[in-house]
Amino acid sequence: MMLADDGHQVTVLERDPQPPPGPEQAWDSWARRGVNQFRLPHFLLARFRSVADAELPGLVDALAAAGAMRANPITRMPDDVTGGPWPGDDRFELVTARRPVVEAVVAGRAGATDGLTVRRGCPVGALRTDGGPGRSGRPVHVTGVVTEAGEAIAADLVIDCSGRRTGVPALLRAIGSAGPIEETHDSGFVYYGRHFRSDDGSLPRQVGPGLQAQGSVSTLTLPGDNGTWAVVVVTSGTDRALRALRRVDAWEQVVRAMPRIAHWLDGEPIDEVTTIANIEDVRRHYVPEGQPVATGIVPLADAWSCTNPSLGRGLSLGLAHAAALRSMLRQGALDEPGLLPGRWADATAASTGPYVDETLRFDGHRLAEIEAIIGGRSYEADDPVWSGYKSLVASGPATPELLRASLDVTMLFRTVGDVLADPDLGATVAGLENPGPVDGPDRSELLSIVGS
Ligand SMILES: Cc1cc2nc3c(=O)[nH]c(=O)nc-3n(C[C@H](O)[C@H](O)[C@H](O)COP(=O)(O)OP(=O)(O)OC[C@H]3O[C@@H](n4cnc5c(N)ncnc54)[C@H](O)[C@@H]3O)c2cc1C
Repeated sequence: MMLADDGHQVTVLERDPQPPPGPEQAWDSWARRGVNQFRLPHFLLARFRSVADAELPGLVDALAAAGAMRANPITRMPDDVTGGPWPGDDRFELVTARRPVVEAVVAGRAGATDGLTVRRGCPVGALRTDGGPGRSGRPVHVTGVVTEAGEAIAADLVIDCSGRRTGVPALLRAIGSAGPIEETHDSGFVYYGRHFRSDDGSLPRQVGPGLQAQGSVSTLTLPGDNGTWAVVVVTSGTDRALRALRRVDAWEQVVRAMPRIAHWLDGEPIDEVTTIANIEDVRRHYVPEGQPVATGIVPLADAWSCTNPSLGRGLSLGLAHAAALRSMLRQGALDEPGLLPGRWADATAASTGPYVDETLRFDGHRLAEIEAIIGGRSYEADDPVWSGYKSLVASGPATPELLRASLDVTMLFRTVGDVLADPDLGATVAGLENPGPVDGPDRSELLSIVGS
């Protein structure tokens, strides 16, 4: 939509055949096999709303019109906690909804955008090239795609936005490119999530942050659209004992034993417990050591990089990444295709790279912490960014400044590294106590609840 608005002719080729139903039917009737987290809980951070307002005017209103929840976490807290309104607090405004609802709204607007054609049921099966991998030592140049049905489609630029399991690296290798260097490993987490609805459109009260470390599990409590919400229990993939959480009864008993979130069960369940495992952390390097593996093609959003989703960052980072692409193309990058991959790698590193780096770092620490708790050990890590994150985000709003710094981190406006480097705040954050355990079942109580 951003590129079409700038006058480019854009064709989106989507493998899944079913067109989007209206947002109100999307939850019940939209099959999106191409996105295996489609029915898992999602949350849109304030950064998503901020980029959407700047780049896609009208989208946020359309989401709200479909029943998405709009809120500003600052204005929902008492003045003695927030220090009253501060200039710039409006950056924390957010809009969020269940994933099928978000996607139906976005797809509806895409379908009505001039210069943009969405072809569904149209999988890409190959890449086109201009006749010679490696000719004169230059990288393969991609000139378009070939659909699985055999239709060749020419393009000045192919944007790979086919998600974290993209087939494009293999398609590049099939035309003689070495393909990107891929760093891929299982993030190590398993998600057990369930959605609920209230009968009067109200939402449960949030006590503490949406993401909470509760010993050897983490929990997510996520408001959604039209009086719906989701609760997720996240475990380590190695935690065989807690695989019982697939069972609704075990899942419910565990959530009920957690005083801060038990009341999030007080609604009508609108699905069973949905589980997802083997979620990869991925980063793809298209310009390793300064040499592009191909020209005429760029990776976007999850096809470039994705991380464990506990922090709810993927859609916001994807949209910010798209805005960076728009900005680069506005500066005439298409006129110099040989330089474009390097520029894109730089723009990616500057716009979304630091957030991905920190998310991967947090994932590694949290997983190690969970493993330590399961093994009856304590976890000490000599990493100021991890301790800064834990104390800033989990310890709650000690002062109005720290509250805003914490929201800047969770809502994706600043990294913890940025906060630690802030001359006014860094030393305070570095000196904060790490939070103690949240009230709730310890490891042996958890195991007894699930019957292990
Ligand atoms: C369990 C879980 C929970 C998450 N929760 C959150 C959250 O709370 N907040 C958040 O912001 N993010 C969350 N995310 C991350 C978010 O889902 C992703 O970051 C986001 O979907 C990435 O968007 P994308 O467009 O890059 O890829 P996708 O959404 O994966 O879309 C890729 C599309 O490409 C299509 N495709 C693939 N191959 C082809 C082909 N050969 N030809 C044509 N089409 C093809 C697929 O059908 C699909 O439609 C979560 C992820 C998971 C796994």
